[in-house]
Amino acid sequence: MEIPIRCFTCGAVIGDKYEEYKSLLSQGADNVLNKLGIDRYCCRRMFISHVEIAHTITKYLK
Ligand SMILES: [Zn+2]
Repeated sequence: MEIPIRCFTCGAVIGDKYEEYKSLLSQGADNVLNKLGIDRYCCRRMFISHVEIAHTITKYLK
């Protein structure tokens, strides 16, 4: 599933960064959102709360 094109809160375009975000994650890079220049927390939550990524994160919850 694709991420929304724009951030729901501020309207910044984030959809174009999603493929790069996924490929960096699969390479095991850290600070991926900083590297992509996503500074505002409203935009960051669009990535870290996305359903595909949420499955990865919830694997580590007890
Ligand atoms: Zn935003």
